[in-house]
Amino acid sequence: MPKSQCHWKECTRLHSEFSLFLSRRRPPRFENHIFCSDGCLYSYFKNALSDRWRRLREERESTIPRPKIGTILMQTAFITREQLDAAIRMQKKTQEGRLGEWLRRLGFVDEHQVTAALAKQYGLPVINLKNPDTNEDAVRMIPGKVAKRSGLIPVGFDDDQSHLQVAVSAPVDFRFQEAIRRMVRKGIAPYIGDQSAIQQLLERYYEPEELDLSNIPTYGSLDDLIEAGCGIVRTAIKNRALDIRAELIQDFFWMRLDYPEEAHHHFFQYDLAAVPESLTVKPEEKEYGYAALP
Ligand SMILES: [Zn+2]
Repeated sequence: MPKSQCHWKECTRLHSEFSLFLSRRRPPRFENHIFCSDGCLYSYFKNALSDRWRRLREERESTIPRPKIGTILMQTAFITREQLDAAIRMQKKTQEGRLGEWLRRLGFVDEHQVTAALAKQYGLPVINLKNPDTNEDAVRMIPGKVAKRSGLIPVGFDDDQSHLQVAVSAPVDFRFQEAIRRMVRKGIAPYIGDQSAIQQLLERYYEPEELDLSNIPTYGSLDDLIEAGCGIVRTAIKNRALDIRAELIQDFFWMRLDYPEEAHHHFFQYDLAAVPESLTVKPEEKEYGYAALP
């Protein structure tokens, strides 16, 4: 008897049972994979989440070496070594803000120079957000909380609609671009834009409550996160979602439930660095460094 076509690798059901299940009702889907039962979907979901959590922890330890923003600004904006040191001192003293931000606050560079340096650092094109031709459909592809937390704003689509164009202000971890791509099911074409302009666009295109990052559940262990995720999966299965997607991005967890008419998004925070996997102590709520910037 052939094994079922269930996507869960440890599924032991037989093909005949799977067919029976399929004929009964629409099978639950996760990331477009079909499962023979809710149980197999849960097993796959927990396993996928654990894998991604582990990978994130590993990746966090290996950072991609990039030219330093200070070095670039010394070359492009002609700041002096002394100015750079002053900015580094301020950053160290306050434990907040980015170096480019401090150079700007101290009046050594303007925002455009920082943006241009970041574009050079990341090897990305600059986008002028002065009078952007922002596409509302593009904006709606990414929930406000995700956009705000990631410091990005979707601005449009490329000509063949295969890529979502997003303006970002660094630091951006491009390893997470892939995760966002899977969630929106389109390629991501990133551009570097002025941080203040991105902030203004966020406020223009999203309602304040869509951008509100306070009162978001925060989890300090993988177990807690999985439990919360399973709760969402349960709702999705009950309401016959067409597909369920979930990604760990930087330090937030984004779930997307696709229904025939619309998509529902869920957003959690987690603290990957602070608490080892084995502990289930909730960390204190973390203030966002970037949110404190003017
Ligand atoms: Zn199965």
